[in-house]
Amino acid sequence: MIVRLAEGTLQTRFGTFTQILYYDGQKEIIALVMGDIAHKKNVLCRVHSHCISAHIFNSIECDCREQMEMAQRLIQEAGSGLIIWLDQEGKNNGHLALLQSRKLKDEGLSQTEAYVKLGYLADARNYRRAAEILHELKIQSITLMTNNPEKVSQLRNDGLIIAGIQQLIINHP
Ligand SMILES: [Zn+2]
Repeated sequence: MIVRLAEGTLQTRFGTFTQILYYDGQKEIIALVMGDIAHKKNVLCRVHSHCISAHIFNSIECDCREQMEMAQRLIQEAGSGLIIWLDQEGKNNGHLALLQSRKLKDEGLSQTEAYVKLGYLADARNYRRAAEILHELKIQSITLMTNNPEKVSQLRNDGLIIAGIQQLIINHP
């Protein structure tokens, strides 16, 4: 169960959003909202898990930062939408697992293979909190911004009502 604790505006390079902070007894979850989304269908939505490497250390090994920027830009262009930020670093195995897997990745294993070999789950993320937040914000359905078709079925299994998909095309320099 989630509790809504606080909210406040945030000015960004992509316009002014409202941060709504929820707590589930263990972790904070933040909905970054723009515009009028209550009772709407096909609300532009990104469900974004934390990535220390990209968001803190400017890593160029993943697209997390670019995907966040593009999601914010698309929401700004549409005039409304939201991003749900989940504290699920390293596919929710944590940053320790991410660092432990590094050597195996350098040896040629995929991230998933490395996690499994180390005894972690291939993907420990879950999206039930995101579904609860969409319900709490009275959103009827979303257009999910993602490039990952597997994530769509995972999110649907966790209760999100996904009416459409919007790809995030990242142009690397
Ligand atoms: Zn990342």
